[in-house]
Amino acid sequence: MSTTDLDARTRELDRAHVFHSWSAQGRIDPFPIAGGQGTVVWDHAGTRWLDFSSQLVNVNIGHQHPAVVAAIKEQADLLTTIAPSTANLVRGLAAQRITDLAPDGFAKVFFTTGGADANENAIRMARLHTGRDKVLSRYRSYHGNTGAAIVATGDWRRFPNEYARGHVHFFGPYLYRSEFWAGTPEEECERALHHLRRVIQAEGPSTIAAILLETVPGTAGIMVPPPGYLAGVRALADEFGIVLILDEVMAGFGRTGRWFAFEGHAVVPDLITFAKGVNSGYVPIGGVIISDPIAATFDDRVFPGGLTYSGHPLAAASIVATIDAMTEEGIIENARRIGADVLGPGLRTLAEKHTAIGEVRGEGVFWALEIVADPVTREPVDAAVVGALKAELHRRGLLAFTSENRVHVVPPCTVTDDEVHTAIEIYDAAFTAVL
Ligand code: PLP
Repeated sequence: MSTTDLDARTRELDRAHVFHSWSAQGRIDPFPIAGGQGTVVWDHAGTRWLDFSSQLVNVNIGHQHPAVVAAIKEQADLLTTIAPSTANLVRGLAAQRITDLAPDGFAKVFFTTGGADANENAIRMARLHTGRDKVLSRYRSYHGNTGAAIVATGDWRRFPNEYARGHVHFFGPYLYRSEFWAGTPEEECERALHHLRRVIQAEGPSTIAAILLETVPGTAGIMVPPPGYLAGVRALADEFGIVLILDEVMAGFGRTGRWFAFEGHAVVPDLITFAKGVNSGYVPIGGVIISDPIAATFDDRVFPGGLTYSGHPLAAASIVATIDAMTEEGIIENARRIGADVLGPGLRTLAEKHTAIGEVRGEGVFWALEIVADPVTREPVDAAVVGALKAELHRRGLLAFTSENRVHVVPPCTVTDDEVHTAIEIYDAAFTAVL
């Protein structure tokens, strides 16, 4: 079959048999990707794109990192699968690699198969540990597509799925579209914390098991919290005996230029959820990193949760190889430097030229551009404009991540200076063509 025929066959099979996430099936036209290396992906015909989406913001180490691919192959030869009730060497090593990166006082990891079930099980642990029921989470958040995680989510995806109980939402800090009439990060932080205190009081502190927060809300808009906000949430959680769960599924493992996004925010949570960047999604896995007091709750009491593929050896092997490669190759440092010296400045230059870019915000390889119809009123552009922009970027050789009125600039942590310069030129040309 010719390469062009392979692309056609891939589209044909997909349209005939594959049911896609979050979509009206008759209205989509997914494009084929046949391979990838680093920041680049290609179709069967050899058309190449710079992947500035990292797929679903998960390929932090880049596509097809040789050490991670080799580790999966090696483990496949040794033992492809084994029940979670067994002790398995590579599973133990993966858990140890992760707890070595976590703050002191986190010795245990519960492995799941992705981010949603990580949050699901963190919520379960918090409820059983406190004997309380309610979970507070932000409007403008995404926590995954399962029972409690989707109801904890703060966007439209919750509405058709509200079958779990005990969930309450509050507004978090987002200065560009402040819910608190704030004009400075300090005001936004203070007022957002006051609002959260009032929600806790109004809901009844003794009914609240957990506050669940993305450290940096990702799909909801990459809002880096103002200084003091997360420490303030920690203080409220302590005051009222509430478990603090930080969702690091998207923000963790390098995206912000740190192993965990919460480093640098003077906060230590009680439970940390992770997935995506821990092994860049080479094999599905996620999990909960559990602080010692919560882990101790289940020393003599059964933890009522489990998954057939918890701690799957292929995934565990890919975690060990990913963390080792990220450490040895300075990949976290690269993400931090790129953000500070190349990508951040490049995006700010774009915003000076294109007035439709209302705000540039982010850090590391985790950036959002607010595309607005009017820079004064900050009115968002409608979905058709963002759709046209995404299509134009695709035509010009860049895979973009968009959400609502925003373009999220989220390449792998391994992205090079040259790739960023090329991408900035592509964004510039696409903005000129569409806006
Ligand atoms: N939490 C956050 C912050 C996410 O961004 C995501 C996925 O995008 C999830 C949880 C859910 O992860 P998964 O899709 O692996 O279940």
